Amino acid sequence: MNYFIDPFGCVKNQVDAETMMAFLNKEGWVSTDAEQADVIIVNSCGFIESAKRESINAVMAWRAAYPHKKIVLAGCLSQRYATELEESLAEATVIFGDKDISNIGGAAAAALSGERYAHSDATGACSVDDIENALPERPLLSLPGSAYVKISEGCDNHCAFCSIPLIRGGLRSRTITAIVGECTALLKRGVKELCLIGQDIGSFGMDRGGQELPDLLASISTLPGDFWVRLLYIHPNHFPTRILDLMQNDKRFLSYFDLPFQHGAAAVLKRMNRQQNAKDYLALLDRIRAALPDAVIRSTFLLGFPGETEKDMDELFDFQEKSSLDWLGCFTYSREENTPAYSMKNRVPKRIALARKQQVEEKQAAITKQRMERFIGRAFDVLVEEKIQGEALYLGRLFCHAPEVDGSAVISSDAVLEMGSFIRGKVFVRAGFDLEIAPLR
Ligand code: SF4
Repeated sequence: MNYFIDPFGCVKNQVDAETMMAFLNKEGWVSTDAEQADVIIVNSCGFIESAKRESINAVMAWRAAYPHKKIVLAGCLSQRYATELEESLAEATVIFGDKDISNIGGAAAAALSGERYAHSDATGACSVDDIENALPERPLLSLPGSAYVKISEGCDNHCAFCSIPLIRGGLRSRTITAIVGECTALLKRGVKELCLIGQDIGSFGMDRGGQELPDLLASISTLPGDFWVRLLYIHPNHFPTRILDLMQNDKRFLSYFDLPFQHGAAAVLKRMNRQQNAKDYLALLDRIRAALPDAVIRSTFLLGFPGETEKDMDELFDFQEKSSLDWLGCFTYSREENTPAYSMKNRVPKRIALARKQQVEEKQAAITKQRMERFIGRAFDVLVEEKIQGEALYLGRLFCHAPEVDGSAVISSDAVLEMGSFIRGKVFVRAGFDLEIAPLR
């Protein structure tokens, strides 16, 4: 029996897709391309309107391409709207909908046999162990040398615009032993970069009574070898400053922080239920940059939240100027049912939200380019990821580039470089958002 998985959404969902592949492989299924597959699995995203549409369009497209193939809709969209989709999305053979992804084999088998799949909402204890056992051996969908390590599931922050707690539930942190076990296995498999992820890794362990991210990093720091650890998605309210000392002493922990600030205007942040303001955020950035002068900061801004005014935008631009972020992702507000913001008044028209997003992005492009200039003339470790066909060029990343979202390192090399390996290189010029690298012998 062959399957093909089509992953959508965030990197947390990517780890779920990889884990489902591990379960299917264990049950004798074989991963192939769509043409040879008996079952196509669309691992969907249900976060915001555009993402939902993208996942449903994927099911439609696969159905059009393969009228007789079995299609399973898995992932957040299927978890959030299982019943509705069973009634409305006939193009999907089975709506998986289980929070317990270890059942994917059952859903795929039901699709193949034409049986109705009875999905279960239970997250049984047994499956957590099964998932823990599957994680270290799972196929990796990232570029060579890199892997995402999901250290927690769910979120307790309840930001007013966010549907994640509705889909993924409250915070559940994995054990430090299990995570270090997975990291050890991945490093043995030749992985060079471990990206620690969760909805908010700053709150890791808070469901057990306290912030444990510093303890987790201290445990990972005992592992031997030359590798990177990248921290992604720390809610600024929960930034565990204790990690800064550890990161000063162990350079394998990259001075890279993804801190989603979401906005800079106090009134907007208050209505978003973010509890801090631009002054707090600037103080945090000063603290981080004092401890780690090379620190690279990525953030996210959400534009068009209900009630956002031009005065709020001025506050945001002022914060954007003062925070001098290295990388910034901008999104427009998506009204999501059952979220606290859904019933808020003074909604901002989409065209105004999009215009504000464009203004922020144009301003950020200049800031990012100026920020990247500081690396010119310096030598760094570079993770080699791709060969550019027909050219003596490779693509890779420095510590200042997170996978998939930031610029790249463009490496000029006549010598053959190994994908997923580190080389030492010197930055000789910035080209747009990329840095051009000459390998050092
Ligand atoms: S921190 Fe806020 S935005 Fe992020 S997943 Fe949690 S509730 Fe959603």
